[in-house]
Amino acid sequence: MKRRNALILTALALSPTLLSVSTRSYAMKNKLQLDPNPENVEPFTLDEVEWKMRLDEEAYYVLRQEGTEAPFSSPLNEEKREGQFACAACNLVLFESDKKYDSGTGWPSFWQAIEGRIETKKDFKLILPRTEYHCARCGGHQGHVFKDGPRPTGLRYCNNGIALKFIPAASS
Ligand SMILES: [Zn+2]
Repeated sequence: MKRRNALILTALALSPTLLSVSTRSYAMKNKLQLDPNPENVEPFTLDEVEWKMRLDEEAYYVLRQEGTEAPFSSPLNEEKREGQFACAACNLVLFESDKKYDSGTGWPSFWQAIEGRIETKKDFKLILPRTEYHCARCGGHQGHVFKDGPRPTGLRYCNNGIALKFIPAASS
């Protein structure tokens, strides 16, 4: 009886510890804050299970599976405040609000990305080649860039709003 009680006590004493360790590592992963404006863009990689834990379903579909959100579905389409737009997966700032414009397409659009923050590749998902672009740090898919944008670049970065998070400027 004594031994049995001792075992139960040990189990009770251990279980909150086990619970708090697993809760803590989960919380750490979700709250992992990466520098939005690093000097160097160090690659940030997670396995697919970890990405699924970090992102909600639709963000995972866009960022990790190159999906496209429905037009006019993102509140960032209407975001006009001064600030920065960061990758929703790793917080790397990709765009500045003064390079955003209303393209009328229903997706947040920019005529310039911050240098070195995105990378591009050709994709043929709609048969005609398009230029896909993604976050240079985590590889998360952001959108496609087209050559029908406004001056001075003539480019239109057509971005999924769900792949971005807006960071308002301190003054706004
Ligand atoms: Zn990223």
